[in-house]
Amino acid sequence: MSAEVLDGKRIAKEIQAEIKQRVATFVETHHFAPALAAVLVGDDPASQVYVRNKERACERAGIKSQLHRMPADSTTDEVLEKVRQLNEDPEVSGILVQLPLPREVDTQVVLDAVSPLKDVDAFHPRNVGLISQGRPQFLPCTPHGIIQMLKRYQIHTQGKNVVIVGRSDIVGKPMALMLANRDIGLGPEMANATVTICHSQTSDLGAVTQQADILIAAIGQPKFITGDMVKLGAVVVDVGINRTDDGLVGDVDYNDVVPVASYVTPVPGGVGPLTVTMLLENTLSAAGLQLAAVGS
Ligand code: NDP
Repeated sequence: MSAEVLDGKRIAKEIQAEIKQRVATFVETHHFAPALAAVLVGDDPASQVYVRNKERACERAGIKSQLHRMPADSTTDEVLEKVRQLNEDPEVSGILVQLPLPREVDTQVVLDAVSPLKDVDAFHPRNVGLISQGRPQFLPCTPHGIIQMLKRYQIHTQGKNVVIVGRSDIVGKPMALMLANRDIGLGPEMANATVTICHSQTSDLGAVTQQADILIAAIGQPKFITGDMVKLGAVVVDVGINRTDDGLVGDVDYNDVVPVASYVTPVPGGVGPLTVTMLLENTLSAAGLQLAAVGS
């Protein structure tokens, strides 16, 4: 067996073209463009690249973008003040606080301060609660991107054993919640999975991952998932982005897994482009939600 590559770049382009069309219709109807405000604290090089990519993607889709740079020694109160200003600004549809924040800034307090109606990352406890109840307002970008990619390759999750390695609030946990629900708005075939979440304390990890029809790795350890951990014919989704001396690598040992899996995502060009794309989707829907909230 040689796995088929899940081409995230191609799928992202396809979805971005659809979003661009919907943004154009929105602008025609409401006479303003949705806008994404990014808050970038400090000068972490990877964060600068991520924010720049998001700005470019916004431009391509006809979404306005604003970048609010703050010095690395900003206090929690200063970042909170910025978030409050953006919450109040009627020209801002969505707010993105680029993570990681400097250690001195209380990340949880800042994320909790983002208005749930502008929370395009879906990190606010209200939005997390709504996802958990199966009636999401926003879907978190990386897990949503993964489901969109599977859907467009006609890989359904209903009834499948899905094993997720990693339990972060950004990827692992929301991914598990979305797939374990009956339907989170993407069709029952793209939910209804039997989900197992693994983490650093999981015993005999390989025996658990071997049970997966769909294996999702969000660990942050280069080439951690090897071929012997994968069931023959499984679908393997690699969320990891690790900077190594050999360049960017995922959490999956790609060459080792290709002979075993039926489908696999590459790094780069797999999940990453979809994460950015779903941010555009959420910014557009945030603009719509705010219009609905003021009753126009
Ligand atoms: P976190 O560091 O927040 O979480 C990592 C998770 O992996 C934790 O739950 C941890 O377990 C688990 N883990 C770590 N080591 C092991 C191990 N040896 N065995 C089993 N589980 C382990 O990472 P994120 O979820 O934020 O990110 C994961 C990766 O995905 C990173 O490489 C990140 O850069 C990338 N990423 C990519 C995105 C994209 O768009 N492609 C978007 C977001 C992230 P425990 O909880 O016990 O510590």
